[in-house]
Amino acid sequence: MAASSRVAEIEVVADGGARRDEAEEQRGKAGAGAAEQPDPVVDVYSAAAYGDLERLRGFVEEGGAAAALREPDGNGYHALQWAALNNYPHVALYIIEHGGDVNARDNAGQTALHWAAVRGAIAVADVLLGNGARVEAADMNGYRAVHVAAQYGQTSFLYHIISKYSADFDALDNDGRSSLHWAAYKGSADTVRLLLFMDCNQVRQDKNGCTPLHWASIRGNLEVCTVLVHAGTKEELTLKDSGGFTPVQLAADKGHRHLSYILSNATKVSFEEKYCPGRSKKIGYAPILFGYLVICVVLFLNSIVFAPNFSRITATAGLWSWAAITLFFAAQVMFYRVSRKNPGYIKANTKRHDPKEPLMEIDINNCSTWTGNWSQLCPTCKIIRPMRSKHCPTCNHCVEQFDHHCPWISNCVGKRNKWDFFVFLCMGVATSFLGAAVGFHRLWTEPIILSSSESWTHFMVTKHPGAVLFMIMDVFLLTGALILTGAQATQIAQNITTNEVANRSRYSYLLGPDGRFRNPYNRGCLRNCTDFLVNGYSNDEEAAWPTLQQTVQQC
Ligand SMILES: [Zn+2]
Ligand SMILES: [Zn+2]
Repeated sequence: MAASSRVAEIEVVADGGARRDEAEEQRGKAGAGAAEQPDPVVDVYSAAAYGDLERLRGFVEEGGAAAALREPDGNGYHALQWAALNNYPHVALYIIEHGGDVNARDNAGQTALHWAAVRGAIAVADVLLGNGARVEAADMNGYRAVHVAAQYGQTSFLYHIISKYSADFDALDNDGRSSLHWAAYKGSADTVRLLLFMDCNQVRQDKNGCTPLHWASIRGNLEVCTVLVHAGTKEELTLKDSGGFTPVQLAADKGHRHLSYILSNATKVSFEEKYCPGRSKKIGYAPILFGYLVICVVLFLNSIVFAPNFSRITATAGLWSWAAITLFFAAQVMFYRVSRKNPGYIKANTKRHDPKEPLMEIDINNCSTWTGNWSQLCPTCKIIRPMRSKHCPTCNHCVEQFDHHCPWISNCVGKRNKWDFFVFLCMGVATSFLGAAVGFHRLWTEPIILSSSESWTHFMVTKHPGAVLFMIMDVFLLTGALILTGAQATQIAQNITTNEVANRSRYSYLLGPDGRFRNPYNRGCLRNCTDFLVNGYSNDEEAAWPTLQQTVQQC
């Protein structure tokens, strides 16, 4: 296929990486046995690579090697590039002050800023850019610093040069690819989030007709594809590359079955989108559940309580029946409440910003909930969401303390309606249990006269079909409600959400220093339960702030 051969054509700036690894290996050996190993710092270039300013000064000021600061080494690399790659700002400043050209290029046309971008060396980039380095310098492939940073997933570096030095994040390389194409191809989901957050063009096609989504699909980058699909429109899903393939076809062709399934689902126009365009929220299965419950209660009244073919109901059974009916109506009120209540939507930022302005300064630098985690950026709502929240693609909002989107209530379950949801589940369990108990009592105490060939089941099905149908429907409901209530109760006792349980290995804030699972929000079963029952949610900041700070410092 055309696309597969193109993948090999993409070349990454790897020169710096190879030399870097070589240099580091030598340094490692020197550290292990300094007496036997040769000294790695032999000239201006190695002194710059190792950040040895004293020796560098010696070479330049006493050894007469000042010219080397302006000339490349045997491989065509400049001393300033070595200092930039390994993030030695003081060395870089010394080289610039002693005649090194801040915009000097190697054989591939790369400058020291390109090399700083490989490692995400922000401090040295400040020195370079503060001394006249061109932020838009392009190498032979047309790669600028923004492209290199995207290729290496250096999100903080990218944000820094965009916000502080107005680097053009939408700039194209010689093949018509932007930094978003590269981040998508390389699978850096956080970089993709940042670029989308800044309104980087998502539908741009490169010389091969590929959008960022095409490249992410070819590589099978599931998380990147999900972010792109949520933030985009259906247009990217239907765009074809120059070979005539859509992202869905490319994913399937490359054997990424799960991804192609997700993409083809996203491509489908749902019933609601077709017939109720403009609805902010999908209807979901709530009407089906409501219909099911109504059928259950009609059957209960008609075929269990007031059934003419049963013997007269006893006073106790009658009392329990009315208790079940009352609970049923109370549960309906709760059902309405839980499906209509705001689950904790976070207000989207609708202000359009000028892309040339320092971006998101107010948000990112002053946000009290920002913990240095790029995955907190929501490219759709254009906000930095608090920890534990997540963007729900069905509701198209970020939800605080996101638990899950429940299609049966056609709403998200989050910070503001989790208590209602749990009470609704408990009421569901109690109602269906009472219904089942009364039904069982009625069927069990019914005097039966079986003919010799007839079984008890056959007798019940033919004589009380409504009652049997009710029992089946009710037990089905009871089982579902019990499982959900059990799961929710366990999670409440541990103060963890369904979403966190499902992604426990992916979320950095749920991992301890040893890399194992650790829930910073768990304050003990008793405290978790009382907090939930009294407030309906837990106060996260108070519970987890110190541990979250530690996590950030480790990053
Ligand atoms: Zn969002
Ligand atoms: Zn939702």
